[in-house]
Amino acid sequence: MRIGCHVSIAGGVEKSVHRAKKLGINTMQIFSKNSRTWQEKTYCKSEIFNFQEVLRKTDIYPIFIHASYLINLASPEEKIHSRSIEAFLEEMKRADQLLANTGTPFLIVHPGAHRGAGEVYGLERIIKAFQIILKESFALKLSAMVLLENTSGMGSSLGYNFSQLSYIMERVGYKDKIGICFDTCHAFAAGYNLAEERGIEDTLTEMDRIIGLDRLKVIHLNDSKHYLNSRKDRHTHIGEGFIGLEGFRILINHRLVKDLPFILETPKKSDEDDRRNISIVRELRK
Ligand SMILES: [Zn+2]
Ligand SMILES: [Zn+2]
Repeated sequence: MRIGCHVSIAGGVEKSVHRAKKLGINTMQIFSKNSRTWQEKTYCKSEIFNFQEVLRKTDIYPIFIHASYLINLASPEEKIHSRSIEAFLEEMKRADQLLANTGTPFLIVHPGAHRGAGEVYGLERIIKAFQIILKESFALKLSAMVLLENTSGMGSSLGYNFSQLSYIMERVGYKDKIGICFDTCHAFAAGYNLAEERGIEDTLTEMDRIIGLDRLKVIHLNDSKHYLNSRKDRHTHIGEGFIGLEGFRILINHRLVKDLPFILETPKKSDEDDRRNISIVRELRK
């Protein structure tokens, strides 16, 4: 199985590969810059070369880049909206620079939060943003693919159900440039009951009917600190939350998703936390 976790790029992006090797994982997620500032990062040739050289000698793929948390493509404020579009385009360029010759560069992003302007308005803002972004990315011949991540619906965040994600994807177009990243904690908090076999079956069937499972590229495996439909986005260790071991056992062995890459974003005080969560997931695999 392809199992990995979010890995730090502290000290340089190629360090993430060394960290992943030490953890013994065969897929991973990284940020391509400090995710909590607007400060952009431009990679020089040697940084890209070193990263790709180290990576080439490993069996780690695919690699996912998670976009900065500051980006809000649904923002009703003109300034933040246009800044988010610009920052996202920079994310796409970096994804291409780092990953274009390793396969499709995947860039994961939360659709956005309307901040009180209303869901209909927020969805229009997101659609408009992606139309601008993908038009530009097409013109620049970038190969990166955007993966919309489902959210918990906390606050005014959009994309908490399959209909909203599908609506955005349909309206934006560029079908082969937008896919889905499915986060188990977010889905559970948004009311998809992944703790039970029936709920898992219903969730996957619904995702297939509304979005199409061919567009699902990765699963974020996180247990939920809060109850079903709590709308609270708090990740916890696998088996220690309300989804529980049985839910994860059924999901990761499910015929419809078992061959997808799984990425953990569970809490981390030290590497030991990642090691433990990864080994728990491996043991759940039949
Ligand atoms: Zn995310
Ligand atoms: Zn996630």
